Amino acid sequence: MGTLQKIPSKLEFGFSLCGYTDKVSALSSLKPQNEVPLKFGSNKKSNLRWDCKIKARSSSSAALLELVPETKKENLDFELPMYDPSKRVVIDLAVVGGGPAGLAVSQQVSEAGLSVCSIDPSPKLIWPNNYGVWVDEFEAMDLLDCLDTTWSSAVVYIDDKNSKDLERPYGRVNRKALKSKMMQKCISNGVKFHQAKVLKVIHEDSKSLLICSDGVTIEAAVVLDATGFARCLVQYDKPYNPGYQVAYGILAEVEEHPFDVNKMVFMDWRDSHLSNNVALKERNERIPTFLYAMPFSSDRIFLEETSLVARPGVPMEDIQERMVARLRHLGIKIRSIEEDERCVIPMGGPLPVLPQRVIGIGGTAGMVHPSTGYMVARTLAAAPIVANAIVRYLGSAQNPLGAELSSEVWKDLWPIERRRQREFFCFGMDILLKLDLHATRRFFDAFFDLEPRYWHGFLSSRLFLPELITFGLSLFANASNTSRFEIMTKGTLPLANMVNNLLKDVE
Ligand SMILES: Cc1cc2nc3c(=O)[nH]c(=O)nc-3n(C[C@H](O)[C@H](O)[C@H](O)COP(=O)(O)OP(=O)(O)OC[C@H]3O[C@@H](n4cnc5c(N)ncnc54)[C@H](O)[C@@H]3O)c2cc1C
Repeated sequence: MGTLQKIPSKLEFGFSLCGYTDKVSALSSLKPQNEVPLKFGSNKKSNLRWDCKIKARSSSSAALLELVPETKKENLDFELPMYDPSKRVVIDLAVVGGGPAGLAVSQQVSEAGLSVCSIDPSPKLIWPNNYGVWVDEFEAMDLLDCLDTTWSSAVVYIDDKNSKDLERPYGRVNRKALKSKMMQKCISNGVKFHQAKVLKVIHEDSKSLLICSDGVTIEAAVVLDATGFARCLVQYDKPYNPGYQVAYGILAEVEEHPFDVNKMVFMDWRDSHLSNNVALKERNERIPTFLYAMPFSSDRIFLEETSLVARPGVPMEDIQERMVARLRHLGIKIRSIEEDERCVIPMGGPLPVLPQRVIGIGGTAGMVHPSTGYMVARTLAAAPIVANAIVRYLGSAQNPLGAELSSEVWKDLWPIERRRQREFFCFGMDILLKLDLHATRRFFDAFFDLEPRYWHGFLSSRLFLPELITFGLSLFANASNTSRFEIMTKGTLPLANMVNNLLKDVE
């Protein structure tokens, strides 16, 4: 939920919906007892900040939300070695943000013997997001012990008549195990922790000063911003215009559900639950949402109604209303809700200024897959690249410092092949943004019929531009005539933009 409060301020959610006139409230926590001001927009670049009181709620989603427990904050039971400001030493690396991205780099840089300080307002808090990954992605990083459930396959329901079995195992990340594993390694490598928010950074020639919310100043040779979508320190110089993935998820105990416990539901695009609700059906036809579900047992399941990508993002209330209609239609009766998640993921948009003095990784550094919203596996795989670069340059005989060192690290994180790949993924997002429900179904019907190496590679960021072009041509060849026509008409402008951007971006 913390993430929800970090939405970039330019964000405008919501087309005008009957009964939902307040664009801001549409995205907010709807629990009446929680009528607290929520802050939207930490984008200090525009210095906009909206406070709003949350009152609106949709009657149909009210009963569901009533079951949501008050809080789900759980801390790790660790003694953390804390940073001692009185020593006033200049540390090698300060990592701002203790999410998956920040901790992965802290762990790996400290392993090489460099001094690291990890700064986060809640360093012991177990990450709140429910992460899903393809099992092969975690296997490649030797992280299978950090999955708490795996499914041997995943299923995609295109519509009522057509479904596809994706023979690719999927897993749910055990957040507690993953964070514990990283923290333990950090602790044994000598990482120090500082519990605060970083407010700003001041750069000198060979070091940077981080000013924290508790008045402490931390000095470091290198600063890494890993603050996720808060984008605390990394600078952007182009208008921030991402698409938004918005989703509402619940981990629930239910009386029963209709899904096979051996298969996770990757996407359920069926809309028969909306037959009796003309307004909702019409909205869903225009900007569709799908169900993502992880059935753990016959009576315990994670259910998430998801808008893949939209600009502006679909209001949270709308998503919740669709979810309630879907669950009712599927005959899913909720007994209790263990936790809920409100997910808002900025997708695509410009990359940060390359290079710049502060290094970035994860959500803050444009690493979310612009066509899918996934990022955990890609970021964990990129952490060694950033860590190795920092270690290499800090330890090298030439010893580049300050801006020169950061520039070298950024080059390793966003080499030209990765920038081109991202450009292609943004092109994919631009097409998805234009597809209605029927076109989206046709698109995924063709997508999941591709050879596995194509769709696996696309979803897991393993294809680079030459392969992506072959992927695009195969998708086109595989598509129905209607879908080809849609891709041609809706994709021409995005294609021209992509080619233009690729030509402008030279080594
Ligand atoms: C609800 C949700 C579900 C998601 N599910 C998936 C999924 O299933 N699979 C997937 O691949 N991706 C998923 N993502 C996308 C992405 O992987 C996550 O957002 C991921 O948590 C990003 O990791 P991160 O380390 O970059 O940032 P975060 O996990 O957001 O961590 C950032 C950290 O920085 C701290 N911080 C922020 N500001 C400051 C500051 N000023 N000073 C110090 N610390 C600060 C925060 O407290 C936080 O601990 C999901 C995203 C959301 C929001």
